[in-house]
Amino acid sequence: MSGLGKGITTASIGRLLKNRGYRVTAVKIDPYLNIDAGTMNPAQHGEVFVLRDGGEVDLDLGNYERFLDINLSSDHNITTGKVYQTVIEKERRGDFLGGTVQIIPHITDQIKACIRHAAAEELEENTHADVCLVEVGGTVGDIESMPFLEAVRQMHGELEDHDMVLVHVTLVPVDNMGDHKTKPTQHSVKALRELGLHPDIIVGRSECVILGGTKKKISAFCDVPPRAVISMATVPDIYHVPMEMEKEGLADVVSEYLDLEKRTPDTEWYHLVSREYTSRVTVAIVSKYGIEDVYISIKEALKHAGRALSTEVDIRWLDAETFDPAELADVDGILVPGGFGKRGIEGKLQAIQFAREHKKPYLGLCLGFQLAVIEYAKNVLRWADATSEEMGPGLHVIAILPEQEEVEDLGGTMRLGECAIDLKENTLIERLYGHNGITERHRHRYEVNPAMIADLEEAGLVFSGRCGNRMEVCELSDHPFFLATQFHPEFTSRPTRASPPYMGFVTACREERNRES
Ligand code: GLN
Repeated sequence: MSGLGKGITTASIGRLLKNRGYRVTAVKIDPYLNIDAGTMNPAQHGEVFVLRDGGEVDLDLGNYERFLDINLSSDHNITTGKVYQTVIEKERRGDFLGGTVQIIPHITDQIKACIRHAAAEELEENTHADVCLVEVGGTVGDIESMPFLEAVRQMHGELEDHDMVLVHVTLVPVDNMGDHKTKPTQHSVKALRELGLHPDIIVGRSECVILGGTKKKISAFCDVPPRAVISMATVPDIYHVPMEMEKEGLADVVSEYLDLEKRTPDTEWYHLVSREYTSRVTVAIVSKYGIEDVYISIKEALKHAGRALSTEVDIRWLDAETFDPAELADVDGILVPGGFGKRGIEGKLQAIQFAREHKKPYLGLCLGFQLAVIEYAKNVLRWADATSEEMGPGLHVIAILPEQEEVEDLGGTMRLGECAIDLKENTLIERLYGHNGITERHRHRYEVNPAMIADLEEAGLVFSGRCGNRMEVCELSDHPFFLATQFHPEFTSRPTRASPPYMGFVTACREERNRES
């Protein structure tokens, strides 16, 4: 079922193999009819992750990129919408002329073709994956996931022995006596069998560790050896999951099924994620969404930087709509993330004004960048009606550029994906990256209005990163740390390689904390 941890399980299996020197790629199957996650409400579905090529995809792809330190393309997120769109286009072209187009074989063939295509794609230049992980989202028994499970069943028959291993992730609840219940697992395995699929490995998700007795029971009912029943108990940090799975012997079982040579794992990952913290900071994130899953990449990027600096980052989530600047008095830094629409704008502007005037570290991302520009226009230039075209009438400091005006569809039409950014010499952003010619990922529609740049700069706002006529970074020179980016640095942050703006921000928060104490 959703929210169980299939994505983290998938990413962790990949990490175990990567630690053994195998090259790993991953595919996420989302059985919904949307072409991609771009038009979906993040409050319901979680963050929309953005890939290098501009693909707007499920947040699990973010986990794959972070755990495996790879860059994936949009082909690695397969949805029912994409599969049907391709098959229908082929039908219109006449590719199936004379034939009746059906779910089996046409849709299932297309699904298999998509999986094979993604698996064969270059990981880096001239490097291909040894193993491709395929995560099927949804729940066994859902109507929407049927064609995907059928495609997986067919693939199993088509591949050589030892070329495929099937891992089933199930919920193992604990009753009020503290006993693990195996019934849900028995039932879901039964449902899988009815579809012709037999799991080789069962990963039991539970609040607490599943021990030998329960493993034996699952083994007996579900026909997998006890050592192929893996306990995945809740841990405080997702990056610890691969370590837990290592202890459970999952890598050995997977290697056996795939006939991979047994290798001693590299331990760099474990050293990295078990590093002790020596200091601590509190960061306020001011947003309109109540759920943290919307900002999972930001949360992770703060954690990556924190870990690199041995600093634990506590996040205080503040609701932009009920916001009161007094809530910021004891925080060490303020972050305004991306967002859409005008709800909560006033609160976010107040938070930015507070950060600017009280010299608190500020990191603005996407909408947080646009609002930093608006706040400056309003309160420093005294342009009272400064706003963004997105928010309605007023002085449009943030606007649609003339070249963007034609666009009518909302799906996939924003400025998306990676582009190169030119950094200004001797600025904060240049110091943080340590070089020019950076590339970062985008997902937005509106831009700083070119007609107002000169006035803003004259008043003291420094645009320190640009991409042609588009403003990418702004900062203040008379402030310890005031930095905002139109791009989303969090999408390229990795546990092994923290993002420079986040490193700068957490460092500044730590200095702020030391100043206070
Ligand atoms: N809503 C803004 C825009 O479309 C910012 C988008 C974002 O924060 N991702 O430009």
